[in-house]
Amino acid sequence: MRVRAVVASAPGRQSVEHIPDPEPAASEVVIEVRACGICGTDLHLLSGGLGDDRFPLVPGHESWGEIVAVGTGVHDHRVGDLVAVDPSLHCGRCGRCLRGQGNMCEDWGAIGATRPGAWAEYVAVPEANCHRLDASFPREAAALLEPVACAVRGLDRLRPRADEPAVVCGAGTMGLILALLLDARGVGPVTVVDPHPARRELAARLTDATARHPDEVTGLRVPWVVEATGHPSGFTQALDLVDRAGHLLVFGVAPPAARVEVSPYRVYADELTIVGSMAILHSFPAAVDTVRRHAARLTPLVTATFDLADIGTALDGVRAGTTVKTLIVPGASRGARR
Ligand SMILES: [Zn+2]
Ligand SMILES: [Zn+2]
Repeated sequence: MRVRAVVASAPGRQSVEHIPDPEPAASEVVIEVRACGICGTDLHLLSGGLGDDRFPLVPGHESWGEIVAVGTGVHDHRVGDLVAVDPSLHCGRCGRCLRGQGNMCEDWGAIGATRPGAWAEYVAVPEANCHRLDASFPREAAALLEPVACAVRGLDRLRPRADEPAVVCGAGTMGLILALLLDARGVGPVTVVDPHPARRELAARLTDATARHPDEVTGLRVPWVVEATGHPSGFTQALDLVDRAGHLLVFGVAPPAARVEVSPYRVYADELTIVGSMAILHSFPAAVDTVRRHAARLTPLVTATFDLADIGTALDGVRAGTTVKTLIVPGASRGARR
């Protein structure tokens, strides 16, 4: 049997091709992909921003599906299980892995970035990356588990207190997820700041946050601020919004070479706390609980669904920022999947 997959062959070039049927290694399972999200990291990867040595590659790191084959050494999962996939790959042996900091692994990788991902009908993944979804799990929200796990990790780093105001800079997909999770933790009122009217409209419609243009929050100071734009100017504004003794989470992915001016005096005198968070660390189980409890509020973030064959149209929508979370659902156009 041959498997349909999106193959990125060079920067800016991807097409739907048939790839060999994935075989599970001893400790792996093969998943029939039910859905896989598209995010900004994928756009970065497809444009060659993570390096040309990534090609050719099947992207896709926000997936869930049904196990259809298991390797000879798999014990905790069986054919028929529904699972979501944590894409993080840690070596488990380096100093940072041994200290429990696997997302800082010297050999860090990810399914869909350093090995074939889930923009495909089937994908092989390590059993250890699978998180079982029971029959009652809200499947329509399952593809949000990976980005929610990243957001949970971010809030684990920020540790915001309930009933105190927060600002999220950036109303992209992650900004909206973070705003929803802050509210779910009782943090608030939450304000989302974004220069784009369409995104502010989405933020107002899909969250309980107040949406503001950056010019409308000049002079505002709050104890909890999340930078989720990835732009250096977003960082500067986010830092300006932090109240004395306040906390800033740097969640957005800025260009590695970007630099901004920071006042060391202000960090000192105002006792500012600035933390970063990178991907997922011990946060996937909490994401499963979070998505289950808040599915009714998270599911509307899925605003577009495309078959593999329509990957070009799907990517255009993500680039244009006209969707919140776009999913690839193999067979969607045929209505073949449950
Ligand atoms: Zn992602
Ligand atoms: Zn390691």
